[in-house]
Amino acid sequence: MLPTNSFAAMSATTPLEAYSFNRRTVGNNDVQIEILYCGVCHSDLHQAKDEWGGSIYPMVPGHEIVGKVISVGSEVTKFKTGDLAGVGVMVDSCKHCASCNQDLENYCEEGMTGTYNAKERDGSGITMGGYSTQIVVNDHYVFHISEKLNLPAVAPLLCAGITTYSPLVFAGVKKGMKVAIVGLGGLGHMGVKFAVSFGAEVTVISTSPNKEADAKKLGATHFLLSTNEADMKKYNNYFDVILDAISANHDYTQYLNLLALNGKLMVVGLPTEVPKVSPFSLITNRRSVIGSCIGGMKETQEMLDYCAEHNIVSDIEIIPMQNINEAYNRMLKGDVKYRFVIDLASIKA
Ligand code: NAP
Ligand code: ZN
Repeated sequence: MLPTNSFAAMSATTPLEAYSFNRRTVGNNDVQIEILYCGVCHSDLHQAKDEWGGSIYPMVPGHEIVGKVISVGSEVTKFKTGDLAGVGVMVDSCKHCASCNQDLENYCEEGMTGTYNAKERDGSGITMGGYSTQIVVNDHYVFHISEKLNLPAVAPLLCAGITTYSPLVFAGVKKGMKVAIVGLGGLGHMGVKFAVSFGAEVTVISTSPNKEADAKKLGATHFLLSTNEADMKKYNNYFDVILDAISANHDYTQYLNLLALNGKLMVVGLPTEVPKVSPFSLITNRRSVIGSCIGGMKETQEMLDYCAEHNIVSDIEIIPMQNINEAYNRMLKGDVKYRFVIDLASIKA
């Protein structure tokens, strides 16, 4: 067993606190990674506070993990000690269903195994995430990380990056298309970077007037305040694709109405309430609502390689592990530019 320091949620209503637990010993197909940085995703907060239901405690959140390989099992050929490595939102899947066979482990028919707050498939316990000093993961679920990029700023690519890259690719975003990103948070700001890099004309739709300058700096052409009805109306029937990355409950209809013929509302935000969708807004312009869940292992590695080639990383604020509760409070207020990343040196023994 491998003793590991971490921060954990012990219940839905208490702040995260220091916690020690044992990782499994390194199996033949496992990679042992010293975690250097871990991004803070709004999904961590949703689950720590049991907003989706079914949370398992103690819970060590964190699924935007980068670090250094410190050992590998006897069968592992993809990685060696000293390599940079990353782990995202899943650490296992069934490996034989139709989705897994198409490199879409994120849509595994048996359900992917989350990096934390999930049951290990062999019944050995509960998965524990990246707010910790090390992790042991089957090599299929570990990514290669380029040495070229600023390592802490790479961490958010493992969730915020792939979760926005995948739906934009699926929707066929390319030069000449009009794309709106709704919710300029951790996911949203990555969505802007990718859509701009694919050549689209990008609009940010936000509830925060103070984010306009950032949106333009990130490459957006237009900025719309979703609370300004008159301005929103000017963009009726305008966009080819809208990416909804809002973390709080909201109505889809006001965004659907902005879509042009065959327009797609790509939903990635995961608030708790079932949203309202007007059928009249859907039949107008033959619009569709499409959900998207992170991305498969192959596509995530492609995204990481694309980022290395195009020099794309996240805009981050580095924090010590001890500041996580304050970071959650600031994230709830939208006060983060645009991703917190934990420096795990802060809880090394
Ligand atoms: P985040 O950094 O907190 O950003 C969320 C943004 O939503 C905020 O910055 C804010 O943007 C907007 N927002 C907040 N409250 C709002 C309200 N009441 N009305 C309208 N907009 C509001 O969160 P994140 O880490 O990017 O995650 C966003 C969502 O995606 C979360 O629900 C998360 O669980 C989900 N998620 C899904 C997947 C997937 O695979 N589908 C993966 C990861 C995360 P403005 O200030 O610009 O309005
Ligand atoms: Zn996430």
